[in-house]
Amino acid sequence: VPVQKPTEPKIPKDDRFNDDKEVLGLEKAAFVMLIRNGELEDALRSMKQIEDRFNHRWHYPWVFLNDVPFTEEFVRETTKRASGPTEYGLIPEQHWSVPPEIDQVKMRAAMKKMEEDRVIYGGSLSYRHMCRFNSGFFWRQPILDKYEWYWRVEPGIGFYCDVDYDVFEFMRTSNKQYGFTITLPEYKSTIPTLWKETVDFVRKHPEYLNSNSSLQYLLEDRDQGKSLTSDPPPEYNGCHFWSNFEIASLKFWRSPAYSDYFQHLDSAGGFFYERWGDAPVHSIAAALFLGTEQVHHFADMGYMHVPWSRCPQPDSFHKYAKCVCPFEPKDSFDLNGWSCQPRWWKIAGKEFGA
Ligand code: GDP
Ligand code: MN
Repeated sequence: VPVQKPTEPKIPKDDRFNDDKEVLGLEKAAFVMLIRNGELEDALRSMKQIEDRFNHRWHYPWVFLNDVPFTEEFVRETTKRASGPTEYGLIPEQHWSVPPEIDQVKMRAAMKKMEEDRVIYGGSLSYRHMCRFNSGFFWRQPILDKYEWYWRVEPGIGFYCDVDYDVFEFMRTSNKQYGFTITLPEYKSTIPTLWKETVDFVRKHPEYLNSNSSLQYLLEDRDQGKSLTSDPPPEYNGCHFWSNFEIASLKFWRSPAYSDYFQHLDSAGGFFYERWGDAPVHSIAAALFLGTEQVHHFADMGYMHVPWSRCPQPDSFHKYAKCVCPFEPKDSFDLNGWSCQPRWWKIAGKEFGA
């Protein structure tokens, strides 16, 4: 099956997609959904859209992960909705608990303070487990050992356009490692020391910094052009790839650069004393340890996760991909003042569909 690169799509004369052909996806790839039993309805909504828009041709497997056993109903209904095999993994306790090195009194005090300060999810312990799990442990689940690629799916998302090529094959053949749809700044109150720990880590391990990294995309305007060894170090602007959607390489998370980085962050304790999200952790790693050309913006995908959505911009592409975007093109998040997309375009260029 020839791969059609989203950056240069061939628009057929009759404006019709060749999406009736059934083929089997040949990549070592799976959808991964971390989810609670109570979110079944929203899981089915996400699955239905991704099956109809993409997976009905390729039948890639779905992997569901949970910190408690899935109910029979969850297994039955999600299996019915999948066009590929389904697998269900139970997360081991050591991947979803407070490690012994963490001072729980200090942690509780920090959570209470963040709750009072109305930091989003600031008082939640389960949210912290979720973020730490997505940062350091999902890619270590034995159920994912046989895969090299994954597409992270969350319950309740919107997926608005047809995707007529095998995205995993695209990732492999175009040497991509990390793909995203939306980029925006993190709430600084959730990550007071994440950047300092990152700078410390890279100074200790300069060999992990990619020679074509996307460092400048992470830096405040006044620090553009600086390096991580500048004194004082440049500051983080908070921009990150929104990790509720990811199409990425598992090998990257398994690499020494990323696993050492996670180890460093985990020892620093910020997943518990602060409320570090997996989105800034993944994004900083992808921006620093990968080359800019290995990070891909899926500009051809229409995507929504509350409260933001984006769709491909040019009308020709909208029609080509049969998008049904429940908002005006001008309201696409890429054009919102809060979006980090212009910063990404500045270093990586603008793709077709953006
Ligand atoms: P938000 O997108 O940052 O608002 O966070 P979500 O509530 O959507 O959580 C992110 C992902 O982790 C979603 O796929 C959730 O279903 C999942 N998740 C969050 N908390 C838990 C939990 O306690 N247990 C399980 N099994 N999944 C969770
Ligand atoms: Mn979510």
